[in-house]
Amino acid sequence: MPQYAFRCDCTATIPVGIAQAGSSVRCEQCSKLMEVPGTKVLRTLPILEDVVAGAVPKAGFAQRFLPALLLAIAALSLTTAGVLAKERWFSPIEFGHTEEEFFAAFRDDALQDPPARVWDHWKYLVESGLPVHQPPDYFVINEYFERRKPWLIGSSILGALSLGMFLVLTFGQSKGRLGSTGPSA
Ligand SMILES: [Zn+2]
Repeated sequence: MPQYAFRCDCTATIPVGIAQAGSSVRCEQCSKLMEVPGTKVLRTLPILEDVVAGAVPKAGFAQRFLPALLLAIAALSLTTAGVLAKERWFSPIEFGHTEEEFFAAFRDDALQDPPARVWDHWKYLVESGLPVHQPPDYFVINEYFERRKPWLIGSSILGALSLGMFLVLTFGQSKGRLGSTGPSA
């Protein structure tokens, strides 16, 4: 016969069988007399497997380890995302330009230059050697951030998910404790 995990006000788990529905059980932890709910409610409680009647089951390894693991993943991911985001948004480079837009702006600037400056610039390009001309900083930095974008998005999502799961596990459990204010004798 399955044993259901009935929770005492003191958060201890009292294993109860269907036969005990509607009766009272004394908590081994705090000695409080708890009224066992009826069969309908009892069947909605989690089932305890291989529990010796009367024993107080200890919180499972996963139950205690999982929130800590989730919190660690959340902290690590959100820190990574934070560092990447800070690096990106505090960069002096304006993002979102396509190559065409960049060169259009470059050309507009050049058109406003006096002819002498354009000539100087052209001379500089020829002297420095067109084939070895480096791409503008914009593309170098932009490419650097483009390559890190999946990491930024990925770690943000992973961090948010783990933090959410951690909160659900922690907050959900404490809510269950607060909600189990059954009648006492
Ligand atoms: Zn108790």
